[in-house]
Amino acid sequence: MTNHLYVPPGSVIGVLGSGQLGRMFTLAARRMGYRVHTFSPDQDTPTGQVADVEVVGSYGDLDAVRRFASQTKVVTFEFENVPAATAAAAAQCAPVRPEGSVLHTTQQRIREKAFLRAAGLPHVPYREVRSLGELHRALSELGAPAVLKSAAFGYDGKGQAMIDAIEQAESAWRAVASSECVLEAFVDFEREISVVAARSAIGESVAFAPSDNVHMRHILDVSAAPSAIPERLRSESAAISRAVLEKLGVVGVLCTEFFVTRDGRLLINELAPRPHNSGHLTIDACLTSQFEQQLRAVCGLPLGAVDMLRPAAMANLLGGLWEGGEPNWARACAVPGVKLHLYGKLEARRGRKMGHLTALGDTPEAARERVLAARRALLDR
Ligand code: AMP
Repeated sequence: MTNHLYVPPGSVIGVLGSGQLGRMFTLAARRMGYRVHTFSPDQDTPTGQVADVEVVGSYGDLDAVRRFASQTKVVTFEFENVPAATAAAAAQCAPVRPEGSVLHTTQQRIREKAFLRAAGLPHVPYREVRSLGELHRALSELGAPAVLKSAAFGYDGKGQAMIDAIEQAESAWRAVASSECVLEAFVDFEREISVVAARSAIGESVAFAPSDNVHMRHILDVSAAPSAIPERLRSESAAISRAVLEKLGVVGVLCTEFFVTRDGRLLINELAPRPHNSGHLTIDACLTSQFEQQLRAVCGLPLGAVDMLRPAAMANLLGGLWEGGEPNWARACAVPGVKLHLYGKLEARRGRKMGHLTALGDTPEAARERVLAARRALLDR
């Protein structure tokens, strides 16, 4: 390895954040002989349970962040709302991959959309909105229905309001309760897909097969891959995703979520500069998982082959499943071709992602039926 950072197996990798994404990254890293330290405000976390060292600290304690980073060879993150100052403090002591500037762009919708617009990448029509007056103007330009979204810290549908008619502007503005928003045209999509892609330190990039995603109450419910979209859209979605990584200068993994319109166009909905829930099925279905790919990218290793060994589907397990008692794990595991992933979270809360099931099948549809049957079996108590 020549002019770029190479972090060999045996080295310590730092992970900012401690949720399930960090946990699955850590499991991939440990399999390849790396050590992992995790930093977050919490204790006995999904990542901490499987890491070598769990450091408990506030993201605002920059001295603690510097101490943490100085113990590592490279720092990555699993939580995209890590403050810019935290990423900058870590970068004083170790390379941070992807760089803090990537986080800065993607953790705020106005900046993310401005990037997409400047880069000439296809996205949902939108307007920036900073007052009720601007919301009225934006609505008259984009028309209703439209979706008002707070610019910051938006995930899983939080801080969003649907506007079906112009008269709802004021109540939506109050509901979102944010001084910086975007108004997006409502897209009557045919389907939602996502593409996880990786870019290495030497600029090579590779995209996994797109997934078809179905959301429930704004939270991802089921993904199946490869997506049923035609070949033309498959290659277009891969090309756009790789262009996003290139133009953002990502070294690591990034997920691009798209709406597929009824007239066969791809519009980017959102970017996540990390492995993504819709890519969890790569653990069981692909030669290289999205987490191993993140590891390879941030450590300066060549990227792995992303061939899908079998079609697959993933169903999320949210906290509500625990409401009638412990789910029947044995029943779900008895369904052939089903794999159980649990994140070690100590408390099951409604809407909280506690784990997922993956099923392999001869077709994505067969895998989807199987994973849904396994999830139903969990309630067989
Ligand atoms: P987001 O948090 O922006 O990813 O939105 C979560 C989900 O809400 C998306 O996956 C869509 O199912 C739906 N959604 C968000 N924005 C729009 C839009 N502009 N048009 C139609 N559906 C949307």
